[in-house]
Amino acid sequence: MPELPEVETVRRGLEDRLSFFVIDRLEVCRPRAIASMGGVTAFTDGLTGARVGAWSRRGKYLMASLEPDRGVWGVHLRMTGQFQWVAEPTNPCTHTRVRFWNSKGDELRFVDVRSFGEMWWVAPDVELTVGMPGLARLGPEPFSELFSAPYLKRRLKNSSRPIKTALLDQALVAGVGNIYADESLFSAGIPPLTPAGQLTLDQLERLRTSLVDVLTTSIGAGGTTFSDFRDLEGVNGNYGGQTWVYRRGGEPCRRCGTPIRRDKLSGRSTHWCPTCQS
Ligand SMILES: [Zn+2]
Repeated sequence: MPELPEVETVRRGLEDRLSFFVIDRLEVCRPRAIASMGGVTAFTDGLTGARVGAWSRRGKYLMASLEPDRGVWGVHLRMTGQFQWVAEPTNPCTHTRVRFWNSKGDELRFVDVRSFGEMWWVAPDVELTVGMPGLARLGPEPFSELFSAPYLKRRLKNSSRPIKTALLDQALVAGVGNIYADESLFSAGIPPLTPAGQLTLDQLERLRTSLVDVLTTSIGAGGTTFSDFRDLEGVNGNYGGQTWVYRRGGEPCRRCGTPIRRDKLSGRSTHWCPTCQS
């Protein structure tokens, strides 16, 4: 599943590719991909003729401003959603969900094998958090000042759930998934099963710094090699060969040689080193 670095990589790709892209026409191949009020009709009317402006990201959500004053186009890739840039006309694959063309016939194609991806059109007079309700439930961005050790201390007070589970909660911090939760806990030297409420301010500061570092590194690498993630040009990222623990169950820890453990936690695989994280 794409996490913050992958979604950020897609955001940059969309911003590069779609500058001055005016949506001449679009086709919704799978109506369920449109999650906003008014469904396919409102989405089609809202986007047709609009120029795609700047792209922003919040957690794993992407939002494009539509110009002039045409509202916002929202996207969540969920498990397997991906955009493809199609310069030469080709037949769409069976997993094609939505297609957008400019007047030159260039196509932006949204392909989604598992079909959990969603899109929204939010009218100019509608609050973003009303038009895309999931945004209202998101915690702070990991790179924001709001995401601090005291914030974590306050939010995790008395919490008995494992810190790994807490990190996956989008209401605590936006955009983190399995890969970067495992990697940041390793880097901070914290066992993933530690009850979140027991972590000290020092540990939480280490965790915050580690998470920011890991995310920054992965964004620089263009996202991960894992999962079905592809950027607009069909390339997946370089973050992966350099993971410390993620998907390395049974292999020797790169720091101390202890075999990396792989445990199930809240239904997700958790990878960690029992020596370095103790
Ligand atoms: Zn180790």
